[in-house]
Order: sequence, then C-alpha cells, then structure tokens
Amino acid sequence: MGNKQSPTLDNNLAFIKVVISVPLEKEFEYSLPSIYVSKAIKGARVVVPFGRKKVMGIILSCSDSSEFESSKIKPIIQICDALPSLDKRMLSLGKWLSDFYLYPLGEVFTCMLPNKLLKVKSPANVSQSSSVSSEKINESELYFSNEMDTLTYIQTVSNPSADSLIKLSRSKKQKDLYQYLIAKQELEEVCSVTDIKQHFSMPVIKGLLDKKLAYVEELKATHSKWTSNLCIGQKKRANTEQAIAIASINQSNNFEVSLIEGVTGSGKTEVYLQVIEQILMAKKQVLILVPEIGLTPQTVKRFEDRFGKVVSVWHSGLSDTDRLTVWKEAKYDQAGIFIGTRSSIFLPLSNLGMIIVDEEHDESFKQQDSLRYHARDVAIFRAKQENVPLVLGTATPSLESLYNALNRKYKHLTLNIRAGSAAMPTQHLLDLRGVKLSAGIAPAMLQRMQQQLDRGNQVLIFVNRRGYAPALICNSCGNVESCIDCDNPFTVHLSSNNLQCHRCGKYESFKPNCHSCGSNNVTTQGVGTEQIQHLCESTFPNYSTIRIDSDAIKGKNKLQTLLNEINSNQHQILIGTQILSKGHHFPNVTLAMILNVDSFLFSSDYRAPEKLAQLVTQLGGRAGRADKAGEVWLQTHQIGNALIQDLVNNGYAHFARLLLEERLAANLPPKTYQIALRVEHEIQNELLTFMQFANSLFMQFKQLEFVGPFPAGIEKKQNRYRFISVTQSTSSPYLNKAFKQIKNELIKHKLASKVRWSIDVMPTEFS
Ligand code: ADP
Ligand code: ZN
Ligand code: ZN
Repeated sequence: MGNKQSPTLDNNLAFIKVVISVPLEKEFEYSLPSIYVSKAIKGARVVVPFGRKKVMGIILSCSDSSEFESSKIKPIIQICDALPSLDKRMLSLGKWLSDFYLYPLGEVFTCMLPNKLLKVKSPANVSQSSSVSSEKINESELYFSNEMDTLTYIQTVSNPSADSLIKLSRSKKQKDLYQYLIAKQELEEVCSVTDIKQHFSMPVIKGLLDKKLAYVEELKATHSKWTSNLCIGQKKRANTEQAIAIASINQSNNFEVSLIEGVTGSGKTEVYLQVIEQILMAKKQVLILVPEIGLTPQTVKRFEDRFGKVVSVWHSGLSDTDRLTVWKEAKYDQAGIFIGTRSSIFLPLSNLGMIIVDEEHDESFKQQDSLRYHARDVAIFRAKQENVPLVLGTATPSLESLYNALNRKYKHLTLNIRAGSAAMPTQHLLDLRGVKLSAGIAPAMLQRMQQQLDRGNQVLIFVNRRGYAPALICNSCGNVESCIDCDNPFTVHLSSNNLQCHRCGKYESFKPNCHSCGSNNVTTQGVGTEQIQHLCESTFPNYSTIRIDSDAIKGKNKLQTLLNEINSNQHQILIGTQILSKGHHFPNVTLAMILNVDSFLFSSDYRAPEKLAQLVTQLGGRAGRADKAGEVWLQTHQIGNALIQDLVNNGYAHFARLLLEERLAANLPPKTYQIALRVEHEIQNELLTFMQFANSLFMQFKQLEFVGPFPAGIEKKQNRYRFISVTQSTSSPYLNKAFKQIKNELIKHKLASKVRWSIDVMPTEFS
C-alpha cells in the first residue's frame, strides 16, 4: 500500500509474445519501444520484424520481463489496434481450432481475420518521432479500453471542403493530425480519442474538428444501429410440427443443439424465421450458415422481407473491403442477421444469440485445404462457448448429426409433411440391363421426358461430369489421350474445342488424330453434360435446353441469370452437375433423372452411399409443387442393390438409419474419429519412406487403428503422387493427443521439409 508507484510503472509491460503466420508452433518475443510500453493488449495486431520482412502478428501475452537478454530481443515496429482485433472469445476460439485441427496458431488467426487487417503497409507520412507531440501525456489515462461501449473515435470526413483544407495548411499541428488520421485509416486502424490525445493536444484536436475535417464517432456495442431498422413482418401460421419445433427451440436461451430433420419443403426456413424473431427482439445477433451455392438473393430476401434491413451477407465473392465492412458490422453489432458461407463462422459477432446451420449435411462446410475445419463442428464449439442455442437443419442429416440426435445429445425435431399442400416427390429405379443408351440416357427415359415436356413441364438431368466425354481413345492403337503430369485421361470439351485435365486444369486444343500413332480413328468414351445437351437439342428441337455446370456459369451473376431464366420457363430441359441439386427451387420440374448412379455404388469412399442418398433426396426436393408432383428416376445396372432399393422404397430417413447401423458395425465414423495424413511428392519412394515412418509412429499407440498408405482418389496431380493414411480411435481426445505426438516426430524426419504433408482431422473425403 505504502509502496505507491506511478501508473506508468505499474503497467510497464515491456515485452510481448506474438504469433505470426508461419507454419511453426511458436510464439515470438519482442520488446516495446517506450511509446508503446503499457499500450500492448492481448489480441491486438502488431507489426514486427521477422527476418528481413515486416509481418503482422497477434499479441498473445504481455509481460514486464523476459527470459532472454533484452539486447537480443527486437523491438516491435507498430501496434495497430487500440482495441483487440481478436477479443478474448476469438482468441480462445483460435486456440481451440489450432489444438483440435493441429494447425499452427498464427496461421489459424490468418484464416479468422479479414485480409485487409493482415496486410502490412508502410505508412509513408507517419513517422513516430515527428508525430508524437511533446504535450504532456496524462499518465493516468489509458491508451485503450476493454469496454467498447466507452470508446470514441476520430475519423476524417469523406468529402472535405477545399476551403477547410486551405485553412488547414496554416496550422502545422492540425495538418500533422489530419495526415496522421488519414494514414491510420489507410491501415484500417482505429483512432480512439485517447490514442490521439497521446500525440496531440486537445486544442489541436478541437481545431481540426471545428474545421469540419474530422468528426468524433461513438461505437457502442450495446446500442446497435440495426435495432431501429428491425421490423417484424407477418409470420406464417405454423403447422403442428413446425409449432412443436419452434416451441422446443425457444424453450432455452442456453447452449443446446437441435437437429431439425425436415423433408424438403417442410418449412424449415419458416421455423428459422420464427425462432430468430425471439432472438432479434432480445436485441441479439443471429449467425446463419448456408452452403456455398445456397446463398442466393432469394435466400437473403426471405430474411429481409421478414425483418427489414438488418441482414448482412458474407461469401467468397466479396471484395476485401466488403469483407472488412461485414466483419466490423459483426464486431460492433451493426447488423442483426449474418448469413454466410463456411468462413462466416469466424465472424466476431459481439452479441451472438443463436447460430443456425442450414443444410448441415452439405460438404461445402468442410474446408479442404490449409485449416481443414468443418464449420458445423466449429459452430458447436462457438455455441457452447457463448452459451447460445445451435440449430442444425436439413432434409438429409449427416450420419454424424443423426447419430448425436438418436443418442439424445441433440434435440431431435422432425418435420415429416410438406408445408402448404405440395406433394412429396416419388422415387423410381430404371433397370439399365440390356438397354442401349443414347448419350447415357435410356429410351424409356427419353419417352418420359417427351411426355412431361409436352405437358408444359420442365425436366432436370443430373450427371456429375462436365465436358463432352471423360476420355478420348484411339481405336487403332488403344492409346488414351492423357495429361502426363497427372496420369489422368483428358476430358473432351466441344464448347471450347479442347482437351482438359480436370485435375490440374491443363488443356490442349482438340485434334482428331491420335497422339501416339497418328490414326484419325479416335472415339470418345463416357458421357458428360455437353454430350447430353447435344442429344437433347437434337431429340427435342422444340424445347430449349440449358446446361448448368461450372463451365457454363463462369462470370458474375451468371448462375443467377440462368436460374431466373429457368424459373421464368425460358428453358425446359435443364442439364447440370451438383450445382443444380442444391438450394434452388424449380416448381415446374416434374421429372428429375440421375444418369450414373452406379459410380456412387462402386466408390471406395465409405461416405459415397450417404452422398448419393443426399443427392437423390435433395434433387427430388428441387422438383414439383402442389399441382405438379415431382418424380425422380435413377438409372442403374444394379437394380438388386439392397441400398438403393431401400432408399427408393423407404426414403432417406429410413435409409440413413440403416446406413448408420452399417457404419457403427464397421467401426467407422461417427462411432470412431479419424485423422488422415495426406502426403504429396514427386518421388514415390521418398513419399512412401515418409509414410512408413508415420506408420511406425502410429504403431506405438495401442488404441490407434490405422490403414494406409493408400493412393488418394486423385493419385497423381501435377507430377506429384498423392497418398493418404487414416488413423482412428473411438476417443477423440486420445486420437488428438496421439496425433500431436506423432506430428512432433514427423516434423523431425529428414523428409519432412521435402515432401508436402498435411493433417486432416475428421476427413470427409479421400481424393
Ligand atoms: P424448407 O426450408 O424446409 O425446404 P421452406 O421453409 O422453404 O421449406 O417452405 C416451403 C414452402 O412452404 C415455402 O413456400 C414456404 O413459404 C411455405 N410454408 C412454410 N411454412 C408454411 C406454413 N406454416 N404455412 C403455409 N406455407 C408455409
Ligand atoms: Zn493411336
Ligand atoms: Zn493434369
């Protein structure tokens, strides 16, 4: 008590530990130059020297001493945040991600923050020494505050008057302040009043404000702008099942996962809308995750129609500037509803009241490179962390979620009837044995198409191959034209008149001569979207055919334009890949066909039947309405296959439970947890040496099962061989702990820096 120290000394935190975006599990220590002493804050961005570069880092801890000799520690260059870019919850989310996905913390933060906040620009006109005024700093005034609601900022106006600018040139100090603000804003930094007061006196600040070149803005987390835009639109009268679901979700404001298993068109979105209402009324924000291709203007419109202009949208097509805007809207509670794709799960909503994951089974929620997270699993962590409800909705639950629901870990809500009066689509098998196909389509299907088209309906054909044909073969010598870098047959594309490797993207112009023997007796093999389009155009010349695959929808808003054309009946025959099977509604489609069902049945991926069933069911869900029930037809040579028989006769819900039993019996996920080791390398021998070493490590863990190495689905790409080993255990913590030790050993291996390897926690595909 008697030992009274000045506040400066009290906060004399002169050293900080920082993580930066490098593939190292390491924290780096730096010292703080005197002007930054006691201004460092956990979770703030900081520019530090690293080797010869300046890089952006995140402050993890501050301390008044260091284990190292202080002369050996480099000083930081600049602290960029008065408020932490990553607050406590985001820091702990990052730490969990790093721990769970075995991914370096510095790189995790890079995935979590918008690009604009990670770029290091050198501010030309801010030199520390010149802008720090000699004005006496009020020592007791904190440079930063943890409470966002007490913070005030100074910002320059966007259209300064020429008059004011001329006047400004007469005051050196005000000019300095003006340039200081501009430079800071260019760096996307917050300029709190307390910050500025450290460098400039109050009269200088006041002078600038009086000239109307800058203004003070208050950001208050608890006084969100959006609540004044909130209007609660007319809701639909919920049917009994919907009412039960709504009541059940509304029951608790705490963490709880609810799985809505609702057939397509059963009104899941209406349930979301009604439970969101409660959250918004309580002035809390809602985060809604949707699959990549499900995020259409119609989706957003439904939420805006109900609640007004309180919706903010996040997806991969946003510019860096827009991303930062949405990120800030989340952090400063400037919007009530955030609808976004996978990475929106990292938006720092400061006032989160609920998370919804729509189409929770969708594969696009899993990131397949760098930080290989699953947004649904991250959502579970976040909802738990914030103690808010999480709603998972789908017509075709993933076996993981279904398992948890059946085990009562999740609340299980079912919607079995379609809302309104729309009939459920029916499913049928078409036996292909002994049938001669045209472009992969059976004559019986062509007849059905004709019938539906003549009645004024639309027809949808699903095929999972784009291009004209997946191979070009020489009839004289048997040569298959292939990409040598990938050992992969070229796909023939007629629209661009070339051969393309679908693995590496390489292409060459199409020549009707064999590369090997020169013969012009070459033929295509297999069927892609283009070939079906050709067939349909010649078979049904009176109807318009449209192809929707990734080739056809290149360009901004192209997909949306085509979808609009479909819904205004400008096209009658729709041919497409995955893109057509998700999220869109085609009320005039009465016939949907899946051409190559058998390719799913023979896949080595144990998830293939689950994916097929989801595809079939979702495709059916796109089709039909009250007066026009939809039919889904599956062409197959495997008419007796028990799985597809069950799917067609008993529907997804039944089928999924059967499949789940099979998975559990086979000790596969969701009964067990898996971590895959993926390795790529030019030299197969070295690759296998590394993988054998990994196997020797796996063997040291008694409760770890493993298979591999086996060639990946794409066994070679761009001259690199690709192999996978999969480890599994019934205990996720055990697996995680074991793999951490394994990783530590792998890093030390002499090939570790030579081969490309990555760890995939809970892998969802093995290509
Ligand atoms: P899902 O999300 O399950 O596919 P939607 O919420 O899109 O289903 O609902 C399908 C259709 O049914 C929509 O046109 C929707 O407006 C309508 N609908 C949903 N709930 C009701 C209800 N309670 N009464 C009348 N129509 C409803
Ligand atoms: Zn040949
Ligand atoms: Zn290739």
